[in-house]
Amino acid sequence: MTIRPILIHPDPRLKTRATEIGQPDDTVRALAADMLETMYDAPGIGLAAPQIGLMQRLLVMDCVKEEGAEPRPMALIDPVIEWASEELSVYEEGCLSIPEQYADVERPAEVEVSWTDLDGARQSERFGGLWSTCVQHEIDHLDGKLFIDYLKPLKRQMITRKMQKLKREKART
Ligand SMILES: [Zn+2]
Repeated sequence: MTIRPILIHPDPRLKTRATEIGQPDDTVRALAADMLETMYDAPGIGLAAPQIGLMQRLLVMDCVKEEGAEPRPMALIDPVIEWASEELSVYEEGCLSIPEQYADVERPAEVEVSWTDLDGARQSERFGGLWSTCVQHEIDHLDGKLFIDYLKPLKRQMITRKMQKLKREKART
C-alpha cells in the first residue's frame, strides 16, 4: 500500500466529473487500499479518487470516531444517492483538498446510497449523522463539486485565495 499525494484546491481535476468504473479489477482494489491508507494517514474520514488525481467514481470513508471503537473502512464504487430525506442537518465540514478551512454546510440529514463493492456486488445502505454528510461530500467530489461551492461567493473566494497562497508556499519549499 502506498500513501498518495492529495491534490490541493484549486485544481481542474477537482472540478471535473469522474467516470464510472463498472466491475472492479485488482487495480481498483489496490487503489481503494491506497486511498484508505492515505485517508487514515492524513488523517481524514473520507477521500475520493479525484483528490489523488484519478478521475474514477471511487470513494473511501470511515466515520467511526469513538475512541477504541472498531474501524469501519468502506470503499464505494459508482455510488448513487437513491433517496434523500427532506429533513436537513448542518455540519461544519472540512476537506483534505482544502486544508484547515471549515464551514457549515446544510445537506439532507439522511440518504440512501447504492454502490458496487470491491467484489463487484451492488450494495445499499441508509446513512445518517456524520456518515450521511461524509458520503454526500465525497459523492460531490466525483461530480467535481467541493463543499466551498455551497458557501457565499465572498467566503469561497477568500478560501480559494488562501489555498493559492498555500500552494505557492509549498512549491517554494
Ligand atoms: Zn473533500
